[in-house]
Amino acid sequence: QLRASHPTFALAKAPCWSAADKSKLVRSATQMVSKRRTNPYSKVLRNGSGTRGMVADAYHNDAREAIIWTTNLYLGLNRDPAVVAAAREAISKFGTGMGTSAAASGLTDLHLAFEQQFATLVGKPAACLFPTGYTANIGAVAGLLGENDVVVIDQLCHASIVDGARLCGAKVRTFKHNDVDDLAVVLESESSPYRTVLVIIEGVYSMGEGAAPVADIVRTAKRYHALVMVDEAHSFGFYGERGAGICAAQEVSNEVDFIMTTLSKSLGSLGGVVASNAEYVDLLKASARAYIFQASVSPADIAAALAALQRLSQDESLRERLWDTARYMRSQFSAAGFELGSGDGPIVTPHFGDKDKLYAIVQRLYEKGVQASAVTYPIVESGRGRLRFICSAAHTKEDVDTTLLALKEAVQEVETEFASLSTDKA
Ligand code: PMP
Repeated sequence: QLRASHPTFALAKAPCWSAADKSKLVRSATQMVSKRRTNPYSKVLRNGSGTRGMVADAYHNDAREAIIWTTNLYLGLNRDPAVVAAAREAISKFGTGMGTSAAASGLTDLHLAFEQQFATLVGKPAACLFPTGYTANIGAVAGLLGENDVVVIDQLCHASIVDGARLCGAKVRTFKHNDVDDLAVVLESESSPYRTVLVIIEGVYSMGEGAAPVADIVRTAKRYHALVMVDEAHSFGFYGERGAGICAAQEVSNEVDFIMTTLSKSLGSLGGVVASNAEYVDLLKASARAYIFQASVSPADIAAALAALQRLSQDESLRERLWDTARYMRSQFSAAGFELGSGDGPIVTPHFGDKDKLYAIVQRLYEKGVQASAVTYPIVESGRGRLRFICSAAHTKEDVDTTLLALKEAVQEVETEFASLSTDKA
């Protein structure tokens, strides 16, 4: 379980780092590169995508075929033939870029169809499309609230929510991760008939936990007449009937005022979207600077997202495959003795406290043809690093078996290497 109150972790979640913090981060990255003679962030894809491809290590100037576990392409739709064909067709019809913002007529009928079909799927009358998930959160929060308002966010909310909260000038309060009682304490002290209070949470957080207690949070927020926004980046597409998300799964879509997701994960494209009632969507389109002053989603991206939306809402087998592989991976990794935390979703995170060993394992895995990521401070608190494997419907059980074998070998080799280093020192 994450201890979000840990001081270093609080620093990681701060929207602005001090100059001293920034130089500390740069120093630790440089040290890691010189010590391990590699940079885990220097990997690029030469071909393939999603779950398998030729991965190049720019630092070592080599490349190898790898099973890829580092993308959030949960349903593998980025390679779906209907999705790819829709993107191609949109390019031949509209060209490559929109060249202006949605507010300044940078829209096609595909953009409007996406907004309408997304809204319908999540049970809302309307939606507002942004060029990325990041700017959807910034745009929505800053567009809705002003300096007399209050935004109350879960301590582990994504940087885009934190940044939107800061940008709007409202008072920002946090509550302990997934803690409904702590939320009530914060709301008790902040609610007032003279200002808007907006509670923001994620449906599922991205470090390998299960679903958030969305229904309890919504009930609590509504007791204090607060608005609620749920970021479904890591839940849309594979929770709820037809993939409509956590709000649908926990039957609170009507009570949640804003349902947000990114188009870059389950939908395999690029963009962000916020669904709500018609009045709030009109307000967003008139006031969200990220909507008004930023070029709109490209024709290929919106066509791909629209085709993916139609695929995921109609094809139950995509979800079945994803959950089946995720459960298999969790059970195999646990049986092999890896500590995974409490989650049940597709993000599987074996914990490794020692950062140096963690990076060494990532490098060994890469050499064995497995691309996983290391999540360390400042993304998680110091000393609570983990490997992250993100399952997709496009992964197979054979991919899991191959990966587990490689992981066991990598851990063994790194333990031996580090033991001999400490013997040398002695
Ligand atoms: N919200 C959450 C919870 C996220 O995890 C992310 C991306 N990791 C975003 C928003 C931003 O989405 P995008 O990367 O598509 O801009």
